[in-house]
Amino acid sequence: MVAELDRNATRMQAYQRELEDYQRQIERANAALEEETVSDSLTGVKNRRGFDQALHQELARAQREKTPVSLLMIDIDKFKPFNDQFGHPAGDEALREVARVLDAHARPFDVVARYGGEEFVVILPRVDAAGAVSIAERLRRAIEAAPWPDRAITVSIGASTTGREPDSTVLLDFADGTLYRMKQRGGNQVAHADDFC
Ligand code: GH3
Ligand code: MG
Ligand code: MG
Repeated sequence: MVAELDRNATRMQAYQRELEDYQRQIERANAALEEETVSDSLTGVKNRRGFDQALHQELARAQREKTPVSLLMIDIDKFKPFNDQFGHPAGDEALREVARVLDAHARPFDVVARYGGEEFVVILPRVDAAGAVSIAERLRRAIEAAPWPDRAITVSIGASTTGREPDSTVLLDFADGTLYRMKQRGGNQVAHADDFC
């Protein structure tokens, strides 16, 4: 009788352990799935959804802490002719490399994301306008200096920084408008939206 109770208790413990193992597996699978929904499958950096979430969080935190947030909008120069000349697979590889260089040169708490197509964005928490320009210039140079196998790849960058009312639409519009001006000036350069206000 006692022996049977012991056997049952042992079996119960084994079931319990198995159940806990399953629960851990499900948690891991859920975390991987969640990560996938915010990652860009080509480059591995955050996708647009991941960027939107991160920007929302950073702006809320910036408002609480009364610290600035800067944003860099980055666009590859003359990328359509690159694809036309070297093909889409080479273009895809160039996009991966741009993402890798951005990730390698950003600080650990900066957020690098693919905004869409050949455009990337970087969120710079606690960085003011002057800091944003110097980081943007560092990233521009790092991309220009990377060992490109086909043709040199360069980027243009528009930066913007939160004012008294952190607002994602304003931040994006200002960075984008500044990026457009850099393209008009011939590309491969950076500027801050404040320079045009
Ligand atoms: P600009 O210097 O004014 O930025 O010119 P651009 O040619 O870079 O700009 P445009 O908007 O005309 O072309 C963007 C190109 O980016 C067109 C498209 O083929 C390429 N592109 C966008 N997404 C991808 C992608 O996922 N893979 C590849 N290989 N190319 C892409
Ligand atoms: Mg573009
Ligand atoms: Mg472009």
